[in-house]
Amino acid sequence: MSRLLWLADVARDAGLVVVEIDGWKTRGTADMELKGVINHHTAGAAHGDLPTLAALIKGRPDLAGPLCHYGLGRSGTVYVIASGKANHAGDGQWHGEDFLDSSRSMIGIEAEHTGRASDPWPEEQLEAYRLLDAAILVRIGAPVANLCGHKEWAQPPESTPNRKPDPIGIDMNRSRTDVAEMMRRIEMGDVVVPGAGEGVNAIFATPFDWAVEMGIFTEHTNPDSVVTSEEFAAFLDRYHQRVVVPNLRSAPR
Ligand SMILES: [Zn+2]
Repeated sequence: MSRLLWLADVARDAGLVVVEIDGWKTRGTADMELKGVINHHTAGAAHGDLPTLAALIKGRPDLAGPLCHYGLGRSGTVYVIASGKANHAGDGQWHGEDFLDSSRSMIGIEAEHTGRASDPWPEEQLEAYRLLDAAILVRIGAPVANLCGHKEWAQPPESTPNRKPDPIGIDMNRSRTDVAEMMRRIEMGDVVVPGAGEGVNAIFATPFDWAVEMGIFTEHTNPDSVVTSEEFAAFLDRYHQRVVVPNLRSAPR
């Protein structure tokens, strides 16, 4: 397996709202030998659905992008960012197995969160996190034990203990219990996701109402037909921050 070209479909099939970021099918080196999933938080800005998006794509001065395969917005929206290797984990060990070339072995999900322990996670974001984890594990045929948090992963003996806190405030043992139950439901074809099956317009009715009121859209329109994925991500971001930009197309990137 070299490139994970099913990342968008597996999330969509699970009933999640998916935004495919332009270029994801060729982003990251095509060198994946997939074993499991690592959960992260972005430690990003306090407002917006996925304000860290640009950094997740392009990386930071000290670390080349992409920095994950998926970004997970505060709304529970799944942003597909890369299908090849992503720099998200560093050296690590998990479940008694040596996964040292972690960038090749693990899918990285970066969920938007400030990283402050006092900031709660939105329930819709947690629900989407569990569902996405479960859908991936079912797809790759891995046990729930192959799901871990970065804070669990980043503790090889030679490394600094507790060098990573993410995802902050999430008890990964409890997550694995919940994800295992979700995996059973997916395998039985019995997943009920709030809003699933009603389409993207139903899920984003409130943002769209707001956009129409503000003159950003003249009517309810399927965003996929009028904007690129990055523009749509920018729209959601502005909705969460209530920033009015009259013409979406001419908005600065
Ligand atoms: Zn991390």
